[in-house]
Parts: sequence; C-alpha cells; structure tokens
Amino acid sequence: MSGPYKGALFSASSYDADNGMFPLAYDLFSSKNYEDWLWFLEKLKMVIGERDVIIIFDRHQGIIHSVSEVFGSENHAHCYRHIKENFSSFLTKLNTKGRKVKENALQMLDSIAYARLDCDYEVAMDTLRTFNHDLAKWVKENNPQHWAISKFKKMRWDKMTSNLAESFNSWLRHEQHHNICVFFIEHMDKLGSLLVEHKNGLVKWNGCIGPKIEEKIALNIGKSENYITYLHLGSSMKESNGKAFLEVDLMERTCTCKAWQMFGIQCDHACVVIR
Ligand SMILES: [Zn+2]
Repeated sequence: MSGPYKGALFSASSYDADNGMFPLAYDLFSSKNYEDWLWFLEKLKMVIGERDVIIIFDRHQGIIHSVSEVFGSENHAHCYRHIKENFSSFLTKLNTKGRKVKENALQMLDSIAYARLDCDYEVAMDTLRTFNHDLAKWVKENNPQHWAISKFKKMRWDKMTSNLAESFNSWLRHEQHHNICVFFIEHMDKLGSLLVEHKNGLVKWNGCIGPKIEEKIALNIGKSENYITYLHLGSSMKESNGKAFLEVDLMERTCTCKAWQMFGIQCDHACVVIR
C-alpha cells in the first residue's frame, strides 16, 4: 500500500472456469512476517473448507512454513518465475561468459521445469549436467518436486507462476494509493462490477466451456490431425505422433503425457483418440 497508512496487501486469487482471475480474499497487514501469513492462510482455509487446493507462491521462508502448516507442503507449488530469477542470479555468480550461454542455460531449465514425463525430465537434467555440473546441482538442491511439472504430483492445472497475484495488484493499482477505508469501499465496488461483467459474459458462451478454454481445445484438435491411432486393450488406445507411443484411457480420462489429468482438458493425443 502506498497511501497515508502504508502496510502490506495480502491477497489470494484463483482461476475461474475460463482461466480468468477470480479474487478470493485479501487483507492488510503492517508487516509480512510468518505470523501474518499464518493468520491470513488460516482464514483462507476457513473459506475454502476441505477442498484440496494447490497454493502457488514464492518460497520466502515465512511463506514456506505457513503454507505447509495450513495446506501441507505437498500442496505448495513454487512459483517458476521466482525459481528462474534465482537460477539466473546463480548463473551470474558462476561468472558464465556471454549472453548466449545464459540464454541456453535458462532454456535448459525450462525443459526441466516443463517436461511432463520423468524420462524427459532426466534427459533435460543430463543435458544441463553436461553443460555445467554446478547448474544441475543447483536444480537438485532447489526442490524440483515443488516446481518441475513431472515431479509435482498433484493437480496444478498446469499453472507455473504466481502471475495472478501481479494481475490482482495491477487491478487495484490506483486504489492502493488511497487510505484504507476508501480502499475497502473501492475494492467492493470494483469486485461487484467484475462479477457482473463475468456473469454477463456467460451469455456468450456456447456451452459450459469458456471461450479461452474452447480455443485451447480447438488448438489440441488441430495438432492431433497427423497422429496415427492403434487400438489397445479395454477402454485405452495407443497413439503415435511418429516419435513415441502414448496411451490414452477414455474412461479414466488420462493420457501418459499427463496433460489431460493435469490440465483438466483433453490433450492432443486424447483428441485424436476421441475423433
Ligand atoms: Zn496426451
């Protein structure tokens, strides 16, 4: 907050059915220590109830401890943007020469983070290890089970960063300059307008899927056009994209690429099997 009373604005937002921002809760604190986070997260938990939710956050010590206490450490996905920034600082400390070398190392980190299968993760790790042993050691020591897709076992809808928090901050950018009472009133006003806008937007939906999600499915259907499918056993089918065999189970709604179960919408492999 930058108004006359200062203070820190804490917020929690989730994604709505069309991948948009849905503000859940916020509060104002005089500091940002462990106790403040714990209080905020405990109140958030009361709102969420027993639902199994994934918290995407950076890994500041106060946050790590309070998230694991309230939601369990296995539900804490570390924001990949922060991980990448820390990796980049480590690269600078290692004194790696040249911009191109740094770019390559960051791309290798992307391959590690976004690999869906364990075997792809291992290949990406080997590539990084060959490139620079210290960088691979850094990855191992920085809890990839909290940020690499293949290592994080819970449903995170493929969300990698806490960018939604930035969206919330920028949504209330002007209001943060005002005093706290005015801020509360302006927030209520803005939230009301946002919800009405979302409700009116629903009229334009073709079914129960929002336009942004529909676009993603259309993209996956397009990508699936050149694949070859083989009948396998039971409800499952094998399909080949020319490089590997993947198994899609229509009844279980899974694919060995893990995209269907992780994102909640059919991957390109599932699309070809359904077609
Ligand atoms: Zn798939």
